[in-house]
Amino acid sequence: MGIPNKNYYGEKYDLHNCDKEPLHRIRRSQSYGSFVSCNLSGDTWYHASEDIMNILKTKSLSQFVFDETGIEVQDITTKKEPQFLSNESYDKSLIVHSVDYGYLLEIEPLHYEARINFRKNPYRDVILKLSEPQNQKELMEEVIHQVYASTGYDHIMLYKFDSDYSGEIIAEKRVEDSPSYLGLKFPSTDIPKQARNLYLSEKVRIIHNASSDGNIIFSNNEEDCPSLDLTGVSMRGVSPIHREYLGNMGVQSSFSVAIIIKEKLWGLIACHNKNPKFINFNTRIWLKFLSDLISISWEKVVRHDADLSRANNLLIESQLVENILSSQDLIVGLLESEGNIMELIPSDGILIKSNEKIRGIGNLPDPSTHEGIFNWLDEMETFNVKAIKSTKSVIPEDLYSPYAAGILVLKLSDLSGDYIIWLRQEASIDVVWAGNPEQTKNFDSDKGRISPRKSFESWKETYTDIAKPWRESEIGIAQDLRREVIEHLYKKYNEVLMLNTELNEAYKELESFSYSVSHDLKAPLRSIEGFTQILKEDYSSTLDQNGIKLLDIITRSIKEMKLFIHEILNYSKLNQQSLNVLKVDINEVVETQWKVLNLDNKNGAQLEIVSEFPIVYGDHNMIKQIFSNLLSNSLKYVDENVPPQIKISHTADEKVVTIIVEDNGIGIPSEQRERIFEVFRRLKPNDEKYEGSGVGLSIVKKAVERHGGKIQVKDSTIANTGARFEFGLPMNQDFVEMMERRKARLHN
Ligand code: ADP
Repeated sequence: MGIPNKNYYGEKYDLHNCDKEPLHRIRRSQSYGSFVSCNLSGDTWYHASEDIMNILKTKSLSQFVFDETGIEVQDITTKKEPQFLSNESYDKSLIVHSVDYGYLLEIEPLHYEARINFRKNPYRDVILKLSEPQNQKELMEEVIHQVYASTGYDHIMLYKFDSDYSGEIIAEKRVEDSPSYLGLKFPSTDIPKQARNLYLSEKVRIIHNASSDGNIIFSNNEEDCPSLDLTGVSMRGVSPIHREYLGNMGVQSSFSVAIIIKEKLWGLIACHNKNPKFINFNTRIWLKFLSDLISISWEKVVRHDADLSRANNLLIESQLVENILSSQDLIVGLLESEGNIMELIPSDGILIKSNEKIRGIGNLPDPSTHEGIFNWLDEMETFNVKAIKSTKSVIPEDLYSPYAAGILVLKLSDLSGDYIIWLRQEASIDVVWAGNPEQTKNFDSDKGRISPRKSFESWKETYTDIAKPWRESEIGIAQDLRREVIEHLYKKYNEVLMLNTELNEAYKELESFSYSVSHDLKAPLRSIEGFTQILKEDYSSTLDQNGIKLLDIITRSIKEMKLFIHEILNYSKLNQQSLNVLKVDINEVVETQWKVLNLDNKNGAQLEIVSEFPIVYGDHNMIKQIFSNLLSNSLKYVDENVPPQIKISHTADEKVVTIIVEDNGIGIPSEQRERIFEVFRRLKPNDEKYEGSGVGLSIVKKAVERHGGKIQVKDSTIANTGARFEFGLPMNQDFVEMMERRKARLHN
């Protein structure tokens, strides 16, 4: 018969760390009853508590169990749930746990006064009461009240875990001389991880008498003995560290009920009593049921509260998304929406990065740090939403700002590096601990283990470098917003992508169609022109005046049509031909075109070139077409009897020369300035004074764009009415070639 190591755990543990304490393997049972484990037939026992060792030397296990409880061990059958067996004529009951090698048996007092009068069927009342509350506060009070009524403990506390598993007492009910812990924080180490895990499998835990060491559990034969796991056993012995902790609190008995929401330990109902106290099996089962009921009700009220604020948030969210879609710009959409993004998640400022642009509102860190902050976020491990309540401890020192002491970051995409950040300023936050959290546990070398803090007097700590922490619900809102925005942007992106492909196809078709049509029209037009000429020369004597007039109209129309075809072919060629990039002397181009267009100078037109142009790089023929069209328009679109005046000036930086062509003509109304570049768009199509095809400016625009530039129309500076065209041409050969490569890629 072997006595386990004279320590608590069956193995030697040097407890420097509470998280390592193997609570389920503590080789002790509590002194309120007896513990024994046995095989399935009940004729061999493996482990037994100290108090019955002597009896088991003289009696068989089955005899002993029958003498104590009136139950026959042979009658026990294997069940998944613990079984409660009792015989009214005996004052002890038997609790049976089935394990793979047999049974774990707990023999505990039966006739302890039960707090619950089960004959009165309290279930209905309690269920009703717990399902009625409309808000969290009412429910908390009802929960405390119910547990107080069921257990009769001195002090009932509702303990809520924070995300880091520190906890706070959010409600309590106590007898007068018991110290109040309401509002106090407890560090996470007070309920270490493995204790929290045990609550997930066993929702209630009784500690009958913390001042008792309990009974050592011996094994019958150390070698053949299965290993002992007391996870579901109520009588499981108590950690010496925890007994000392309770003792320091002035408590001898405790009872805890876990509240589990969505499979996570949400909180505990902690019951304390100054004197030892026992809760019988039925009451424990009732409290387990109550724990489930509380979890359900709690979820319900929390959901109800969340639903209320969610309805409001949804409204703001939909306004934001709508605004993003209509503005086509994330930053503008978020910052200039009626739905206020700072109202969605209360904050002191917002910083957004989208498409390489950064903008913010509210109180912001120094602009020189913005880019650095986003780069720092880029380097973090992938995340969607991240809440940091104290950036000071994580951000590089030079990027820290008291305006961004707390940040809630929403990452829209890993690729684009687009973010929305809510900022909270530094705040002074008081946390009142139950005892100095620095002294939660100290290693006691005499005991070979850590020893808990002695005092639970309230201990105030003031934090200044942190911001008001982000709530779970606020993090949830950020996640919702991310989903919404991404879904809509993605949809939009796909639509644009599809349209773009369709447009490209249509464009290609149109180009080759117009090219071949114009080309094919040339031949029949030439015959019409030839035959009209013959008619005029050889048959004019047989035609009357009207016939000759009609022939003139045909000749004029042929001329117009030839011009039209010529222009269309030019325009189509602009797209299809590749650029022949050479050095181009604009001074020479302008001079030649001016001479061609203003050969006879019949209107007294004047051209002023403000200063000599620098050399540009580009396709000579296309650049020639730009000037030819602009100059001929300036000569054409001018009121009768007004001598045309044209001025060409330029500005230049290292890469681009911007050329300005302005005139004193009839001008272009501002609302038409975009449209005049469309093919066949003419502002005065029926005015015979101004002949034309409506293709010239389309050619100009296309030629400028092929060189990587843009063209704009503005008000002329040389006459109130005139037009002013501004466009850029490159002064760098590599740039033009790059544009060509890009065009080739797009077309493939
Ligand atoms: P068009 O062959 O008709 O001249 P363009 O494409 O060159 O075709 O020009 C389109 C329209 O823009 C013209 O019909 C005219 O109404 C207007 N426009 C072009 N240039 C000028 C200008 N310098 N002043 C006033 N209107 C102009």
